[in-house]
Parts: sequence; structure tokens; C-alpha cells
Amino acid sequence: MPRTTPPRPIDVEAVFPELAAERRTATRLHPRRGAPTARDSSVGGPLLWPADEPWPVCTIPHKRGSGYRLTDVLREREILERAWQRDPRNGPTAEESDILAGFKRGRHAPHLADTDPIPLLAVAQLYRHDVPGLPDTGEGDLLQVFWCGFERHGESRHEPHVELRWRHSDSTGPWLTEQPAPEVVGREELVPSPCVLYPEQVVEHPYLMTLDAELRDRIAAWEGPDTEGDRYLSELSTAPGWKVGGYLTWPLTGPSPSPCTRCGTEPTPLLTVSHTEWDPSTTSWIPYEDRADTDVMGANTPTDVSPGRGRLTIALCPHDPSHPPTLITQ
Ligand SMILES: [Zn+2]
Ligand SMILES: [Zn+2]
Repeated sequence: MPRTTPPRPIDVEAVFPELAAERRTATRLHPRRGAPTARDSSVGGPLLWPADEPWPVCTIPHKRGSGYRLTDVLREREILERAWQRDPRNGPTAEESDILAGFKRGRHAPHLADTDPIPLLAVAQLYRHDVPGLPDTGEGDLLQVFWCGFERHGESRHEPHVELRWRHSDSTGPWLTEQPAPEVVGREELVPSPCVLYPEQVVEHPYLMTLDAELRDRIAAWEGPDTEGDRYLSELSTAPGWKVGGYLTWPLTGPSPSPCTRCGTEPTPLLTVSHTEWDPSTTSWIPYEDRADTDVMGANTPTDVSPGRGRLTIALCPHDPSHPPTLITQ
């Protein structure tokens, strides 16, 4: 079932015509639980990966022996999903709760030294024929996204490590059938649950705090006292959830320059990964097709993923997309 975002409650360009020059298209991915194959665009699904190509690994020094067993994370989700479906009021039985209590964080892979290569998690793959707006880097029509199961990289030691691969999907196999995966992950919220995608293009406008002060003031005045641009922020500028393209948002830190580490050019958003597809402030973006089920547990968190503090944008250097991607967590 395709997904359709309701039109914005107000045509913001009619009120502030200068915003028309800033409009940008974003492709909302609308991930929903499903059983994707390697020939589908997906989050958390199997990747189209040549059998003879090495799987990406993390060798950046950090502890990798403690955390959650990946098999426990998957089993826990399976038990919970079944339990809540069976009994939406009470969830797991006492017996199930006992099993769940056994899935603990621990030193599950003590044999791993701090630079031992560990397989990256397959996060998403996007075919250009499914996802309009996916940039053409000249390296293929299929984008594959990976990250390390630990967020212990970078100067802060709390940053994710993301790798991208572009591939020509018309190349011939044989394709990998058993995907490598790490034994242990540092955070359960880095493990995506399999979702199929229903891409849809929407129009976005810049994040409020990146507009010039004069326009910001006029937007605030138009909205009336006490809102400080909330309506523009939540309903009229940027779409929530997973998306390709569009505008960056800066709810935690406020706008801050994040130039390409190789050449200093300001990068443009490639893929935004988000914990929620909507929250109480962004309900106007809920697709018509999902409106009947918004109360179902987990309806707005289909991927079970929450990088950093909930949102990660992978941005590409517009000057040279082969430069390392910039990661913006908010
Ligand atoms: Zn790592
Ligand atoms: Zn660059």
C-alpha cells in the first residue's frame, strides 16, 4: 500500500513567497515492517551483495566484547511482537518474561580485541528506480548503507561509524546468501528490523533557525504569540522520519557548520535515519494510510532503530561524493 502524506495545512509559500526559492524535494521512505528480498529497497533487509566481495568491517579501535548478543536482540523482538499481537493489553506471559529477562547486556565476546574486525550491520539499501532523488554519483544505481554496532568512534568516542557502498544492480552474481553480522552490538537500537519501503516525494522548506532573522521574526509574528515558530517547525518545513534529500534539522544543537573533512564544502543530506516516523508534534505528516493504526504499539517506530539521540543524517559532499560522508546526529 503506497503512503500519502496529507497536504500541508497551509501553503507557506503563499504567505512567505521568498520561501519558494528555497523549496527542496525530499523522498520520505515510509519504512514499514515486512519481508524484503535482496531485490527490494529496504531497511534491515538482505542486501544484494556479491558472494566474492569482502563484507565491510569496523577495525577502528574501541571495545567490542561487551553489549547485547545480536541473536538475543532479534529473539527479544520476535517474542515481544508475538506477545503484543496476541494480547495487546498485557503483552508477554510470565514464561516469556522469564526468557526476556535472560537477554542481558554482558561481556558476551571476551575474545575480541579492540581492533579485531567486526562485521558492520546492514542498515538499508536503496535502488534508484524505487527512490526518486537518490543522487547519481556515477558509481551505480544501488546505495547500500552500513554502520558499526557500536557508537564509540570519533573524537567524542560516542559517534557512529557509517559506510556507504554504491553498486550496479545489473551486474551478475553470484550473490551472497548468508550475510555476515556482528556477534555483539553495543546498543540494541542500532539493529534495524526488516522493513519494506513506500517512497513518496514531498516538498520541504529550510529549518526555521537557518532562515534569516528578519524572516524568522515575521514567521513568529504571523503564528501569533507563544508559538515561536512551532507551527512552521512542526508542520510547514521538514518532514519527520526516514528520508532521502530534503533539509537538515538541528533541534538539539541549533544550526552548526559541518564541512566536508576532505575539502570544506558544506555537505547536502543524503539519508536521514530517524527513531520515529512521527511524534506528537508532527502528526500532520502521518500518511492517510496509517491513520487508523497510530495507536498500535510501535506504529511510529517500525525500524526499531535509534541512532545517537534519535536522528542521524548522512550528508554527502556536493563537490565530490566519494569524499567521506558527514554524519550529523540530532
Ligand atoms: Zn566500530
Ligand atoms: Zn568534499
